[in-house]
Amino acid sequence: MAERSYFDWNATVPLRPEAAAAWQAALAVPGNPSSVHAEGRAARQLVEEAREQVAVLVGARPADVIFTSSGTEANMLALTPAIETAAEKRPRDKLLISAIEHASVRAGGRFPREAIADIGVDAMGRVDLNALAESLAGTARPLVSIMLANNETGVVQPVAEAAAIVHAAGGFLHVDAVQAPGRIAIDIGALGADLVTLSAHKIGGPKGVGALIRAREDIHFPEPLIRGGGQERGLRAGTENVAGIAAFGAAAAAARRHGPAEAARMRGLRDSLEAGLKGAVPAAVIFGATAERLPNTTLFAAPGMKAETAVIAFDLEGIAVSSGAACSSGKVQPSHVLAAMGVSPALTRGAARVSLGWTTAETDVARFLNAWRKLATALSKGHAGLAA
Ligand code: PLP
Repeated sequence: MAERSYFDWNATVPLRPEAAAAWQAALAVPGNPSSVHAEGRAARQLVEEAREQVAVLVGARPADVIFTSSGTEANMLALTPAIETAAEKRPRDKLLISAIEHASVRAGGRFPREAIADIGVDAMGRVDLNALAESLAGTARPLVSIMLANNETGVVQPVAEAAAIVHAAGGFLHVDAVQAPGRIAIDIGALGADLVTLSAHKIGGPKGVGALIRAREDIHFPEPLIRGGGQERGLRAGTENVAGIAAFGAAAAAARRHGPAEAARMRGLRDSLEAGLKGAVPAAVIFGATAERLPNTTLFAAPGMKAETAVIAFDLEGIAVSSGAACSSGKVQPSHVLAAMGVSPALTRGAARVSLGWTTAETDVARFLNAWRKLATALSKGHAGLAA
């Protein structure tokens, strides 16, 4: 393949070398982590080392990390009426989710439809804390789910403030933090989250591995999603994906080590990309521009631009960008995030997402801006890839 520039890091990121090495090494270990012999103990050791690495990444205790098959499964495990603590065994009566959550949260987990309600966001894509407080007023034992950073806009949510409001109302807070590690600091205690979701493939681990992390050991799920052999403290049965988990752990350690420096570099590149975007098309809109955002994400649109055709035009120039959230069918759905922010349907149809990562270089940004200038010329003439 000719040289390409990958700008779709919020969809997935390349395997970190540390994760690839850990994966290879783990594949050579034949044991089942539940077996007591030496081979089994070796596999168990890999899983427990990874548990420690993932725990350290978010400031949790290793015993509170539950490995799952994905971020999606972790969200599904978390969003259930049947969450117990020693002090509270009655089921949750309501699920409140922000209007900008990922589809795996929007689906509502194991709550009945009628028990699920939305919390709106402001024009910058930040959860409306007044709306949260109002929605909580009508509940007895709510579960609230608010993401740490939005996958489309990159807007960082006021999670710590939300946690204080949720806890004052006797609720639990689940935080989908899938997009955060390596990009912004994440500490489960500082966030005030009761449950946190992570996904390996967004931080340089393999696809198909995730984790749900509890803030405290006494948060319990009496109805696990998968029953069987009692793995993961009975919360998620099934022989562990040892190699995937080991690679997840290595990616978590690498994200912790390199994240701050990488994030600072990404921010510089992203800011110059945005300056170039606006320089070529002053009418271009960067969504959530004045809010705190992930340092790697730009969601933008220009009047008259059509996202599907822009994505193809960029692709032909060797550049991978996304038209909002990636979806498995390849069909482009209008963004529910932009709709919740009150963006007009016409502008929403033109929204394209550029997301950067640790291998992004100045040459990639230059290639992107070259292609953008070409598209902008076409746009100014009202034809080619950008016109509706
Ligand atoms: N949550 C967010 C915010 C995401 O961006 C994604 C992936 O796109 C997920 C959850 C789902 O994670 P996974 O792909 O591991 O199922």
